[in-house]
Amino acid sequence: MEQFTEKNCSLCGHEVSNPVCVDCLRKQIIGFVGTNLKQDVDENMQLFEGFEDSKTKCVFCDAPVFICSYCFYREIYKVLKLSNPRFAKKFGRLFQCSGEMQTFLNHYFSFSLEVT
Ligand SMILES: [Zn+2]
Ligand SMILES: [Zn+2]
Repeated sequence: MEQFTEKNCSLCGHEVSNPVCVDCLRKQIIGFVGTNLKQDVDENMQLFEGFEDSKTKCVFCDAPVFICSYCFYREIYKVLKLSNPRFAKKFGRLFQCSGEMQTFLNHYFSFSLEVT
């Protein structure tokens, strides 16, 4: 039955190395995008509903984690790109400027090839 191990992302199947739940990610993103784009982000939280089977726990609040941060950022980035391309660019830069830059880029680009 189990397609992925408990530590793998339900969307991309990659290992979730630093599990953070969508709620905590949402707060982080909204802290960055501000209230202007809060609605865009909130509307897209639906994308992350319906995955409830996870034994992986959020490092911040202990909630179940079923997708990796990269998939979350990717979805939000796609939304921002439609509603506010200039801002999306900034967003992309910010989240690529972390210590995990290369991992993020690899991960992100592996998707941009498949997702149009
Ligand atoms: Zn993922
Ligand atoms: Zn959390």
